[in-house]
Amino acid sequence: MRRELLTKSALTALVALMAVPGGIDLYRHRHFQVPIVCGPGVTKVEKLSVYAPGIEGTLADTQVFTLEGREPGGKMIMLGSTHANEPAGTLASIIFIENAVVEQGTLIVIPFFNHSGSRATRPGDGYPLYFDVPTDWGHKRFRMGNRDAAPLEAWPDPDVYIHFPERQLLSYIDVRNVNRTWPGRADGPLMERVTWGAMEIMRGRQVDIAIDLHGADTMFPVTNCVVAPEKSMRIATLASLTVKAMEGFECHVESSPSGFRGLSHREIGDHAETLPFLIEAPIPFLDQPTGPKTEKLLLDGKDAFLLSLSRKKKLFVPYDENGWPLDKRVGQQLSVTLEILRQYTKKTPDRPIRIGGVPRYADVVKNGVGRYFHDQAAAPSGAVVQN
Ligand SMILES: [Zn+2]
Repeated sequence: MRRELLTKSALTALVALMAVPGGIDLYRHRHFQVPIVCGPGVTKVEKLSVYAPGIEGTLADTQVFTLEGREPGGKMIMLGSTHANEPAGTLASIIFIENAVVEQGTLIVIPFFNHSGSRATRPGDGYPLYFDVPTDWGHKRFRMGNRDAAPLEAWPDPDVYIHFPERQLLSYIDVRNVNRTWPGRADGPLMERVTWGAMEIMRGRQVDIAIDLHGADTMFPVTNCVVAPEKSMRIATLASLTVKAMEGFECHVESSPSGFRGLSHREIGDHAETLPFLIEAPIPFLDQPTGPKTEKLLLDGKDAFLLSLSRKKKLFVPYDENGWPLDKRVGQQLSVTLEILRQYTKKTPDRPIRIGGVPRYADVVKNGVGRYFHDQAAAPSGAVVQN
């Protein structure tokens, strides 16, 4: 009897010894804040729960930055981290917040749209918990998150996720996928409340354009592209052709399927006056057949297995020894967003959106993405927002 008790105690101690250090790391990651230095354009910072009271006090609540122009005009909303393991969109949105000077119109930016997912990791995939971007003043650290919101907040998952309001049956996990829960509802599952909050901003503040920033595997056909429904197609096509001709990178257009529900590029356009666009930049880190999921792979996108698959023509993007670095991914997202704005303003001159101070593709590729992040230590007090 005594021996059995000893064995059980020893095994319990062993499990605790393994679980506690890992648990502490996850706890720290969950509570790690990313400082954002409000640039010259920021006029208001508020919580998403102002528009979606159902997320107040949960980890799904997140910061909403408004950059109001000197002159009135059209409005654009930008969403980063819809999938929090596709970080280029978060970096691109923070570059807008820290650098944009809005001349006409209004910009609304939510850099951590899937805030809950940005504080979780992907079980079983060995993701790094953080990544560091070199800047002129040191390293800026970001959380690496997961595609879906953390189960801790949204528990329990249903057996099947029934989309609202179309009642299409989706996988159970999609109840935590913020790009399946559009247009959402005020009292639905947690991620429906998040998308509902964004829809309330778009409807209430008459937002003209919504940009949802993503990254996709190089082996997935819907990558390196902008996805648009019928109503956004003309602007998406002009933006795609212009960046190719003027800036020398590919970003083809994919049309949003009307039968697949819950996606931003479908539901936003159907449930508001807003024109939605979803931008996908290739992220080799997300491909299945790669080496270890290291911080290096996340940053430089270089992988020997993908290189050999590329030679066998299995990838949907050109791929060589240079990989697909973060600078290039963020640069693409910035340029395509700016080009969509320019095309929209050309087409709708009574609702112009003109923004200065944001770098384009060539600048970010040349200078590195870190050049455009500001040091919180050197920022004026009150200008730093933790997210
Ligand atoms: Zn995504």
